[in-house]
Amino acid sequence: MLKKLTTLFMAGLALIALNSYAVEFKAQKVADNIYAYVGPLTDRTPENLGLNNNIGFIDTADGWVLVDSGAGDAAAKKLEAIAKGIKDQPIVAVINIGSQDHRWLGNDYFSKQGAKIYAFKKSVKTQTAMFNQLLDRLVPKVPALKGVKMKTADVVLEQTSNTITIGGVEMQLNYYGDAHFPGDSVLWLPKQKVLFTGDIVYLDRMLGVHPWSNTVTWNDAYQAMRKLPAEYIVPGHGKVSDWKQADAETGNYLQKLVKNLKAAAEDFAGVDSAVADNADWPEFSHLEHYDSWHKQNLSRTYLKLESSM
Ligand SMILES: [Zn+2]
Repeated sequence: MLKKLTTLFMAGLALIALNSYAVEFKAQKVADNIYAYVGPLTDRTPENLGLNNNIGFIDTADGWVLVDSGAGDAAAKKLEAIAKGIKDQPIVAVINIGSQDHRWLGNDYFSKQGAKIYAFKKSVKTQTAMFNQLLDRLVPKVPALKGVKMKTADVVLEQTSNTITIGGVEMQLNYYGDAHFPGDSVLWLPKQKVLFTGDIVYLDRMLGVHPWSNTVTWNDAYQAMRKLPAEYIVPGHGKVSDWKQADAETGNYLQKLVKNLKAAAEDFAGVDSAVADNADWPEFSHLEHYDSWHKQNLSRTYLKLESSM
């Protein structure tokens, strides 16, 4: 009897553990005909298939337009199922607004289903240059995404602001400057006042400055983009929100990074003292991953600023 109970108890524990890792692949409504999948704030895992970011779904008279395509075929299939679960119609286009793995490595899958891929020219350049590097980092974390083929845009947009109309829905693909990745852009829907910011905005979690990020132009890009009269902000990561939260959790952080570390670099304070002097920013300490990312963001920003002095 005791053995039976123990077995039952263990099975129960296993179920709880399984559920705590389970990812719900579903979208929420943002505005009329616009939906978003909001990914978990964790890193890429076998369970989330690398979909730890946000993806947009726009319902048009011609079919679905996706804002980004997930990190490979397995993730793309989940996104396709989400779209078709809302409305069974073809996915006619994918618009990439960035170059990180989970923004575009699903392009090949959607292209084979007949979707046309759109992206800003500098995103395409970064995607091409970083493809192998992105896969090398991704596949050990999510083995199901192995074998992804590179597929960049069919329609390469040249201007810093490009109007795209698909199935009667007007969209603008705008580039304001290099940010988390070189060539990061945003998708603005002027009629619905919805802004897909990609990785220019992180909410609920600390943003990440990578060696290839540019904090100074990222801050400028945020301020330029901030002029759009958006009512709904769909960030790159974190929940759908508004300018108030975006300012508090991304805009103000970028501004403070640039201001404080520029001052330290001008004084040639040295990276250790620049990081120590700025290690505690309580207004941002509630953000997920603050402990693991904040000091790294400080040191990468400082070193880049110092080398440009
Ligand atoms: Zn991202």
